[in-house]
Amino acid sequence: MSAPSDKVNLLGMPKAKLEAFFETLGEKKFRAQQILQWMHQRGVDDFDQMTNMSKVLRDKLKEVAEVRGPEVVYDETSRDGTRKWVMRMDNGNSVETVLIPDGERGTLCVSSQIGCSLDCTFCSTGKRGFNRNLTAAEIIGQVWVARRAFMPFDPTDRPITNVVMMGMGEPLLNFENVVDAMNLMMEDLAYGISKRRVTLSTSGVVPALDRLGEVTDVSLAISLHAPNDELRNKLVPLNKKYPISELLAATRRYLARLPDKRKATIEYTVIQGVNDQPEHARELAVILKGLPCKINLIPFNPFPESDFSRPSMNATRRFQTVLNEAGYVTTIRTTRGDDIDAACGQLVGRVEDRTRRSQRYIAVQQVNP
Ligand code: SAH
Ligand code: SF4
Repeated sequence: MSAPSDKVNLLGMPKAKLEAFFETLGEKKFRAQQILQWMHQRGVDDFDQMTNMSKVLRDKLKEVAEVRGPEVVYDETSRDGTRKWVMRMDNGNSVETVLIPDGERGTLCVSSQIGCSLDCTFCSTGKRGFNRNLTAAEIIGQVWVARRAFMPFDPTDRPITNVVMMGMGEPLLNFENVVDAMNLMMEDLAYGISKRRVTLSTSGVVPALDRLGEVTDVSLAISLHAPNDELRNKLVPLNKKYPISELLAATRRYLARLPDKRKATIEYTVIQGVNDQPEHARELAVILKGLPCKINLIPFNPFPESDFSRPSMNATRRFQTVLNEAGYVTTIRTTRGDDIDAACGQLVGRVEDRTRRSQRYIAVQQVNP
């Protein structure tokens, strides 16, 4: 976000926090509802346009508060319709956000941190280390920017039907800000997205997963990637702290608390010669027994600093067949937005490197004018 200031940014505040804010100004709580609609449903960031508030209140707001979204530094649409934004946050750090349209559905892939501290060996974000947590305003700001791209607001038009917290970062290590932002995604006065269609993806921070179940009921994706601890320790170092059995037990507890019947998504990045053999699939089928889940196979997406390779489609299909035959609904994620480097879960920290970024984007624009 450009021009940081000491004013309070209202963009990231869920309803309860906004109500408390207006009370401190000596205003009625219902102002929170009005401003939520202005900011999130109409994409307005200028208090003077909020015409159902008095001039006096608008002037008061201008003194102490602001509505400030991320600054868009790149906005490109791929040949297949996938749209990617690079957004600059305070301190000049950037994150990437991707919208993947698919028929009636539009899935927005949102980042929760700049970088990530967990250092999974196959992940380009992890390779770049951790910089900082995003604020709630910076997280919901990604949805705000994407929604504003489809203004003027038409309530019948729903370009964003689903949100997945699968961009950069581990959302459970930025707990409160992620929960506030997800509450705004689901808030009827903001984006009104169904709790079934807001998905948090985690590599398995077990205690935070239990806390999550106490405060929300969004859908869950678990980044498993391996059927045993020996292999998972190598791919997801966090596994040494919270091994598979504990992670799956916490997943069961989370699902059991939900008021409706829902399945977790098990994410499995398939890496050639590492975790792609039929015996891995058979072992996976055994450990997932009894867990309400569907499995999503993600063919590894290569990046320059990695020694791993993408598996052949045959190997991935063979893996899928073993799981299907064991009774699991298993899909293979197709890569979208290849030409703009927009694979979800693969939002490359490449943006940090300004020179390479601009070269890359010039190349992209040549391919995709
Ligand atoms: N930190 C969270 C969410 C972000 S990663 C998590 O790990 O779940 C989102 C998904 O993309 C994860 O399942 C992650 O394992 C996967 N992913 C990361 N790098 C990848 C790569 N190079 N190829 C394929 N999938 C990758
Ligand atoms: Fe972090 Fe997720 Fe990447 Fe692992 S896969 S390093 S948890 S962003």
